[in-house]
Amino acid sequence: MTEERIVMAKERAEDKTLDLTLRPRDFKEFVGQDRVLENLNIFIGAAKQRKEPVEHVLLHGAPGLGKTTLAHIIAREMNANLKVTSGPAVEKAGDLAAILTNLSDGDVFFIDEIHRLNRIIEEILYPAMEDYFIDIVVGKGPSARTLKLDLPKFTLIGATTRLSLLSSPLRDRFGMTYRLGFYEDLEIEKIIHRSAKILGVTLDKESSKMLSERARKTPRVANRLLKRVRDYAQVKSDGKVTKSLCEAALAMLDIDEMGLDDTDRKILEIIIEKYKGGPVGVNAIAAGIQEEMETIEDIYEPYLMQIGYLVRTPRGRSVTEEAYKHLSKPAPRDLQKKLV
Ligand code: ADP
Repeated sequence: MTEERIVMAKERAEDKTLDLTLRPRDFKEFVGQDRVLENLNIFIGAAKQRKEPVEHVLLHGAPGLGKTTLAHIIAREMNANLKVTSGPAVEKAGDLAAILTNLSDGDVFFIDEIHRLNRIIEEILYPAMEDYFIDIVVGKGPSARTLKLDLPKFTLIGATTRLSLLSSPLRDRFGMTYRLGFYEDLEIEKIIHRSAKILGVTLDKESSKMLSERARKTPRVANRLLKRVRDYAQVKSDGKVTKSLCEAALAMLDIDEMGLDDTDRKILEIIIEKYKGGPVGVNAIAAGIQEEMETIEDIYEPYLMQIGYLVRTPRGRSVTEEAYKHLSKPAPRDLQKKLV
């Protein structure tokens, strides 16, 4: 049922146009992540002064928090062209070699989901990142020989939701690594205001507050909720988004006051009912709700942990007293002991 989830921060087809319209174009429009922006600003400024490309940048964090947006902004600030691909899209070594050899001096090359790059292909990146060359093998059998091709000085920006899955040789070749964290509700509210203005949606203060509280601290989800609520308002009333209308739209989408949807609640319920609150391995949870383990780790867990409903212990996942409260279930007395 993954495709139908509204609160899932992973990009969906409907986001493509929405992202394009709403994506901040420069640092001024980018809300939050102050420390990351401050650092990037300094490094970009310095690189510009030296007339050199910026060092390779690795961005990690949950889906929908602004990694792709930042890659676009960095390229723009550097007045550079941006080439975009993703780990799973690069199927053959030749694909990557073709992209790299077609870059020009100063270009920014963005690889989304870089942790999904095949290891053999990944190795091409090592000399490319470090010394701007690649070795390609031409011919087959005994007549095969290696050809060294020089590359232009480019900047690689890698984005990943799973830093731990990145091999250390690759990780070490990035000059800067930044983690994008979840956003404060006030920051999300600011993003909602900006998006509402662009989309021409009128919404009152209470509605924007409600949406910001339910957007899983994630800009992409905030924009998606705003769009859904706008559509609802258009059909059900005069198009203005009010608190009661917002409440009704969110209820229809099955999103509760913490931004959890049916699947989030199912995850918590399974741990509570089948495993007495945990600890339980993520594979058992995945089997219980018929989801991929990776989806649970990538998309559901980070937010449930962020709001303190779920913890990772050495023996598996456990829910907290807050989660019991949220689901109006009595917590067992020995819960605290199980959380350590
Ligand atoms: P990621 O690459 O991390 O999955 P994106 O950069 O594609 O996320 O962000 C998803 C959408 O959320 C963007 O199109 C943009 O509209 C919005 N967004 C992300 N970060 C911000 C931000 N800091 N300020 C305003 N909007 C943002």
